[in-house]
Amino acid sequence: MALDPQLLEIIACPDTHRAPLAHDAATGTLTCTECGRRFRVEDDIPVMLLDEARTAPTGPQHTDQEEDR
Ligand SMILES: [Zn+2]
Repeated sequence: MALDPQLLEIIACPDTHRAPLAHDAATGTLTCTECGRRFRVEDDIPVMLLDEARTAPTGPQHTDQEEDR
């Protein structure tokens, strides 16, 4: 997975903060340095959609299990 370095310089998080993204070559994803969203890369083209982004695993939310208390 090789992303164009120039592309990395111009793309930013689609959220309002427009933060730069860090490319993770190991997983082939782009991680927002501000909100921690992860964007996948398809065919060397970053999918810069908030709906497609994975939120950071850190945080108080646990979506794996439903707790009813
Ligand atoms: Zn962001």
